[in-house]
Amino acid sequence: MKFSIKLVLSTMIVLALALGFSGFYFVNYVFETSLDREVGQALDESSILSFAFETAALNVPLKYSVLPDSAVEEIASKLEMGGQNGGRLLRIADEEKNILYTSDGFSADEGLLPQTDEHTKSYRVIDTQENYYVHTCVSVNTLDRVLYLETMKNVTEVFTERAMGFSLYRKVTVVILLTGMVIMLFIASFLTKPIRLLTQATKRMAAGEYTYRARQISRDELGQLTRDFNKMANALEENICKLEEEIEAREEFMGAFAHELKTPLTAIIGYADMLRSHKMDEEKSLMSANYIYTEGKRLEAMSFRLLDIIVAKQEEADLQEIPVRELFLYLQEMFAEKKEMDIRFRYEEAVVQAEANLIKTVLVNLIDNACKASEADSVIEVTGQAAESGYRMAVKDYGIGIPEAEQHKIVKAFYMVDKSRARSKNGAGLGLALCAEILKIHHSQLQIESKVGEGSCFSFVLPMENRGAYEE
Ligand code: ADP
Repeated sequence: MKFSIKLVLSTMIVLALALGFSGFYFVNYVFETSLDREVGQALDESSILSFAFETAALNVPLKYSVLPDSAVEEIASKLEMGGQNGGRLLRIADEEKNILYTSDGFSADEGLLPQTDEHTKSYRVIDTQENYYVHTCVSVNTLDRVLYLETMKNVTEVFTERAMGFSLYRKVTVVILLTGMVIMLFIASFLTKPIRLLTQATKRMAAGEYTYRARQISRDELGQLTRDFNKMANALEENICKLEEEIEAREEFMGAFAHELKTPLTAIIGYADMLRSHKMDEEKSLMSANYIYTEGKRLEAMSFRLLDIIVAKQEEADLQEIPVRELFLYLQEMFAEKKEMDIRFRYEEAVVQAEANLIKTVLVNLIDNACKASEADSVIEVTGQAAESGYRMAVKDYGIGIPEAEQHKIVKAFYMVDKSRARSKNGAGLGLALCAEILKIHHSQLQIESKVGEGSCFSFVLPMENRGAYEE
């Protein structure tokens, strides 16, 4: 069952109960007040009649010391005539509670007589099937006699009014409930609109429309729920985008890997086939073996690099305090033999937080790339400088440079700007990908500034401990 229908039904139940109880209480209250009033009037009337009877008895001739039954009947019939609408209903009984006089139509039984004595008045409400009456009984003291006067007052109207009240209230209740139901349907539909919009958004998102958002139409708790839902949807969309990008990158990687594997393998298989199927002179055989060796070496280097990347990806950060001097001394020593390049080192003393071997790998890769991109005898500057954000290390060359559109791609595995040039220099497009992974461990990243024909500068920032003196 729909939530809005449940809302309407529960409101209707509460409304019906409230109207039922209040209506019953109200009609009954009016009825009881009217009945009490009628009873009061009946008792007053019977007191007046009793008094009138006593007065009339005083006028009976003095020869009687005790009021004779005939005089009682005479007085009673006179009193009976004095009522409204043609007559009163009354009954007279003597001391022994024997009936002396009964009006025509007086239908009450004698149940009230035994409950009444000289000093009490009594009454009850009786139902004669056709009508309701207030039946009263009072004593009358006259000329040494104690008589009992009973009256019947018709109160059917009070009961009829109660029945009419109930019937009217039932009709009013039905009308109010029907009108209330229509109004509640509108209200429930309005109140549950945010829920409907949320459901719609959930369905569309489940169907793959990750950009779809629920419309917020209220500022209450449901509005808050919509806001939170949309926030969750944003996070979800972001994660899905990331996942899609990751899958795309993985597919790209697999494609490039297969391609890079195929090239040396084709050469190796081709030369090996030539060696086994043709008789070649010594020089050609040596050349073929040489190709097989160099391509095999390339494959070996590529697999080592790939392994390095995989290891770097899984590496936990174990950063230690390293004086930068240690790093630069290592680089100076390593590239001392590279006489065909003018590599200059310039750094400011400091202690950085890094994993020494990994950072050395990054710097060696960057210097290697700078050498590959430069003409012989070109200048390559390797610098280290304390900055606001940490210790900045940079490798700058004045070589071929990288087109702007390619700059963000070169850190991807197997990406090479100029494939034949890179391969001729034994490159496989994995060096910068490895650098990027290593820098990730150091919570840092590669910055690339480059202009075609002017050169490139690759830099990164490491967390720094303290500053030292400037050295050349
Ligand atoms: P490779 O093994 O080919 O050097 P890298 O990942 O280190 O692989 O570099 C990717 C590509 O980026 C290189 O093939 C080259 O085209 C380009 N590149 C890297 N460093 C430089 C640089 N200093 N100057 C110009 N191009 C560069």
